[in-house]
Amino acid sequence: MRLVLLGAPGSGKGTQASMLEAKYDCVHISTGDILRKNLSQKTELGFLAEGFMKKGELVPDDLVIKMMEERFSLPDVAKGFLIDGYPRTIPQAEALERILTDNKYPLDFVLLLNVAEEILIRRLANRKACRVCSKILNLLDVETGTKNCLACGGELYQRDDDSEQVIRNRLLIYRRQTEPLVAWYDKKGLLRTVQVQEHFMPEDTYKETEAALGL
Ligand code: AMP
Repeated sequence: MRLVLLGAPGSGKGTQASMLEAKYDCVHISTGDILRKNLSQKTELGFLAEGFMKKGELVPDDLVIKMMEERFSLPDVAKGFLIDGYPRTIPQAEALERILTDNKYPLDFVLLLNVAEEILIRRLANRKACRVCSKILNLLDVETGTKNCLACGGELYQRDDDSEQVIRNRLLIYRRQTEPLVAWYDKKGLLRTVQVQEHFMPEDTYKETEAALGL
């Protein structure tokens, strides 16, 4: 399976990618996770990206495109991949097209997780990430008082960029810079859409995802 997951921050791309990865043998490539790893390991890329990430802005295209070129030079992508958080701009999508054509890995689909804005804000303000395995947990979905990751027991924390003001900025940037990709991929006949409803648990979205992809 060769898939791009598209959707606003908080739409559940990472969760759906993890669920698909568990069932279908392919690699989950999250640009957000790769960048956060660079930040914590204090690499040069991490240093260059940090300021943008803290404000909820996009890391410049040239840095992210180079990072993806490097990721796609690794052999594991040959078995299939789920890309989560990339592309976020038209130049990034053009670069991905070039990378995939060079490597002869055409995309099967681009899956859009469509979620209303009020739902996204509620979700983002209530989500925590695991320091150990990066899994995202929505506190609205679980008993309150949970301090540890349900998957691995690691410590949960609120990401710096999940504060309300930064969330609003990230959503604005999504509308301006990333949403044009919906029409771009639709024109290419690759787009499949899942409409995520307020009451949906990750398993409900997953069912709709499989149906949308004809799995
Ligand atoms: P995410 O975990 O996908 O929400 O990404 C967290 C942050 O990393 C974003 O708010 C951006 O600052 C940065 N980031 C992740 N992916 C990209 C990308 N494809 N282009 C630019 N910045 C990105």
